[in-house]
Amino acid sequence: MAFELPKLQYAYDALEPNIDARTMEIHHTKHHQGYTTKLNGAIEGTDLEGKTIEEILTGLDMSNGAVRNNGGGFYNHSLFWEIMNPEGKGRLSGELKTAIEDAFESVDAFKEAFSNAAATQFGSGWAWLCVHKGGKVSVCSTPNQDNPLMPGVACEGTPILGIDVWEHAYYLNYQNKRPEYINAFFNVINWNEVERRYAEAK
Ligand code: MN
Repeated sequence: MAFELPKLQYAYDALEPNIDARTMEIHHTKHHQGYTTKLNGAIEGTDLEGKTIEEILTGLDMSNGAVRNNGGGFYNHSLFWEIMNPEGKGRLSGELKTAIEDAFESVDAFKEAFSNAAATQFGSGWAWLCVHKGGKVSVCSTPNQDNPLMPGVACEGTPILGIDVWEHAYYLNYQNKRPEYINAFFNVINWNEVERRYAEAK
């Protein structure tokens, strides 16, 4: 059973003005579709066929560039679409809020740490909020389409929130102003989904 491009749970223009419709459409139908198609090609006829994406990534041979890049791209974008939703829906609360305050002292300090990780990731990559066994959370970033599930990546835990800082994620609307895009991202985080992932992974 080949991997399929997941459908978005909202319209391409639903995240405007924070993320524009054209960027969303190209990002989903071209970039994410591309990773999906190439992942399927890379695993076809190998013993990775039939495994879940999590199984593929946690057991990954990091020298397998095609699966690393395209499997990472498939997983990362699938998470990315789900942890966003139209502005104003969902508030950080409950156990996750407590865990964030325990780790960073305040929600504002967490936002600063996450924004800093996203802004300082040189070139293309992602910044993550990860959960560790026992419920502790941390922030980190990875280059390219790497993610914290992959072995040996300098970033541990289960990712529950991630921001794509490849230029294709923001360049049409924000050009070189990555910090403005990061700031806008906070307006569209689907905290209900991040909390659901936290509860599942902790
Ligand atoms: Mn992307």
